[in-house]
Amino acid sequence: MSPLSNLAVRDIETVIHPYTNLATHRETGPLILERGKGIRVWDTDGKEYIEGLAGLWCTSLGYGNEELVEAAAEQMRTLSYTHLFGSKSHDPAIELAEKLKEIVPCEASKVLFCSSGSEANDQQVKLTWYYNNARGRPEKKKIISRIKGYHGVTVASGSLTGLPPVHMDFDLPIKNILHTECPHHYRFAEDGETEAEFVARMARSLEEMIQREGPETVAAFIAEPIMGAGGVIIPPEGYYQAIQAVLEKYDVRFISDEVICGFGRTGSMFGAETFGMKPHSVSMAKAITSAYVPLGAVTVEEDLYQAMLDESRKIGTFGHGYTYTGHPVAAAVSLKVLEIYERDGIVERAATLSPVFEKRFEALAAHPLVGDVRARGMIGAIELVADKTTKAPFDPKAGIGGYCVARAQDHGLISRAVAGDSVALCPPLIIEESEVHEMFDRLEKALDDTEAHVA
Ligand code: PLP
Repeated sequence: MSPLSNLAVRDIETVIHPYTNLATHRETGPLILERGKGIRVWDTDGKEYIEGLAGLWCTSLGYGNEELVEAAAEQMRTLSYTHLFGSKSHDPAIELAEKLKEIVPCEASKVLFCSSGSEANDQQVKLTWYYNNARGRPEKKKIISRIKGYHGVTVASGSLTGLPPVHMDFDLPIKNILHTECPHHYRFAEDGETEAEFVARMARSLEEMIQREGPETVAAFIAEPIMGAGGVIIPPEGYYQAIQAVLEKYDVRFISDEVICGFGRTGSMFGAETFGMKPHSVSMAKAITSAYVPLGAVTVEEDLYQAMLDESRKIGTFGHGYTYTGHPVAAAVSLKVLEIYERDGIVERAATLSPVFEKRFEALAAHPLVGDVRARGMIGAIELVADKTTKAPFDPKAGIGGYCVARAQDHGLISRAVAGDSVALCPPLIIEESEVHEMFDRLEKALDDTEAHVA
């Protein structure tokens, strides 16, 4: 192993890295990135990489977009900051709220801004509770998410997340958060169970949970159209229709977490459209600004807004908000991002390119290490297994997914191991067809290296 650079040593001594094995990090040091252009980034040694995960599923317009730089600079020159507390407002927040209301896949009365996906889902929890208190149903508080779902890391959104490392030793989940089954047919289907039977069982299981808990106590259900960090899990045909029927029966608020799937990722503007979901509200972040600046948002339906109005009359204020709720620079950048999505047909482009992306994914199914291939639109993953016939996973301690990702990095591709040994790709939506092939060629080299490693 080459000795660590001075900058790497300083990193180790000063920076805590999220979702990193902090002990291993002391040995390996960081990958320090310096600049980016288009779909590529370069490290401090000048080595070039394709950003195969669009950062953290977020840099949809890639790097170095001068129009976005200019939109931010212009807003900083004009009015770098004002807040929305106490009835203050500004043009970019108003315009952005109007625009989002037009494009979201649900009936939105208002928009409540924040700065991240975690905050967006935290707000969903608070609004759901607030609403039911306002409506005189203080017992209707439980929120159901799914095992392997990812909704963030704050105390409430981390509780919604259904992945053990987010809970372990943080004393999560908090009360009133429940997790139902994960709709991953490859991993969780019973022997010989068809997709239709599996879907019916998922819906039955949800209904049993609601009945067990008492329908009068269940307030909301939250789902990512495609689970991202849980392994890029694409539910079988008819899953959301079956789930929605249960939610409607018991008057359960349905929240679509569009933090990854929103803004074209699945080939439609929102994942809810791709899967025929009919949510009451959506959570947004990431590609809402193409990650040039932090921004999140949730939509508020009319019924909920009316309840909030009643609470304001009673309490005297809406007692929630961040310093950066509707930050003008973030709103201005987001408006420019949405303009570019529309002007450059970014969503249509994702839909057009997706057959190429999906076909390259499907071809990986023949590789001896690949047990499951999942891809839709411009997001996908391969699941590496020790035995393709029995679907037996590798020993988690062997870190095979992580090994493959490290080899991909050697070959100039940044990807990510999710939920153990699934290797995900989710490139910027501006990627060209030839670059899709370049990305998969690099991944194939990493897979071959991994096969040699486990042999
Ligand atoms: N929801 C989903 C679906 C996500 O993928 C993420 C982050 O990856 C979040 C919420 C949390 O967003 P953030 O990391 O901006 O807090």
